[in-house]
Amino acid sequence: MSLRIVVCVKYVPDATGDRHFAEDLTVDRDDVDGLLSELDEYAVEQALQIADEADEAEITVLTIGPEDAKDALRKALSMGAHKAIHVEDDDLHGTDALGTSLVLAKAVEHAGYDLVICGMASTDGGMGVLPAILAERLGVPQVTLLSEVSVADGKVTGRRDGDTASEQLEAALPAVVSVTDQSGEARYPSFKGIMAAKKKPVESLDLSDLGIEADEVGLDGAWTKVDDAAERPARTAGTIVKDEGEGGKQLAEFLAGQKFI
Ligand SMILES: Cc1cc2nc3c(=O)[nH]c(=O)nc-3n(C[C@H](O)[C@H](O)[C@H](O)COP(=O)(O)OP(=O)(O)OC[C@H]3O[C@@H](n4cnc5c(N)ncnc54)[C@H](O)[C@@H]3O)c2cc1C
Repeated sequence: MSLRIVVCVKYVPDATGDRHFAEDLTVDRDDVDGLLSELDEYAVEQALQIADEADEAEITVLTIGPEDAKDALRKALSMGAHKAIHVEDDDLHGTDALGTSLVLAKAVEHAGYDLVICGMASTDGGMGVLPAILAERLGVPQVTLLSEVSVADGKVTGRRDGDTASEQLEAALPAVVSVTDQSGEARYPSFKGIMAAKKKPVESLDLSDLGIEADEVGLDGAWTKVDDAAERPARTAGTIVKDEGEGGKQLAEFLAGQKFI
């Protein structure tokens, strides 16, 4: 039987551009260029490697995001994924992590899955919480932050590297995993892959397709809210301590004054 892999990929604002909050203190997604979150490229790569090892496998890439988020899906398809699901709905504006996990869970169930692969964190929100919440919502095991992952005999196994130890973990499928930026360099799409991606199916879904009410997501359904945001002040010039015999003392006074020591 074919191994069904769903990879959750996020379309994020380009970190090299100028990023802003909109008036309602949500991220201004209209004003910036976006791209496939770099950390999710590792998730796509691991899905491709697992599919290569399997007798038969199908990789679906899934994103929740605005119209332009299709660019992230096309990139993942050009790397080698087979098909894509794009969830878009005006009522998603302002959805927090809990709401996002609800939509992802319904979309993953809609796709059908044996294994869900996520990145370790998005490069914009960066909370790194979605894989765990998603697994909880789906009622399946989670094996997160893997730097090595493989699938065999109905199980997913992997290595999680900590500061003091490396753990070897396994879970029965179906399961959710997240992979780190140490899991292996993501491949570049080939020209053939880019051309093939144009013909691969992208299914568009909205909230009603997934049986989700508008008030379960968006700013109204959010459990977290940004109360205030201010631009980071411009950097000031550093303090230069000239050593004319008293340099060490001045340095210590400076550090003590800043409460570093
Ligand atoms: C149109 C839109 C508007 C939003 N507005 C707000 C807002 O105003 N306030 C707010 O708090 N949040 C908002 N969100 C949700 C927010 O951007 C995050 O998706 C959510 O809070 C999860 O946090 P994170 O990005 O830190 O995820 P993490 O937990 O860091 O993500 C880990 C992994 O989960 C997967 N993942 C995360 N997000 C997505 C996604 N969208 N699609 C597919 N896979 C994903 C990826 O594999 C990722 O590597 C909005 C999202 C969208 C799409």
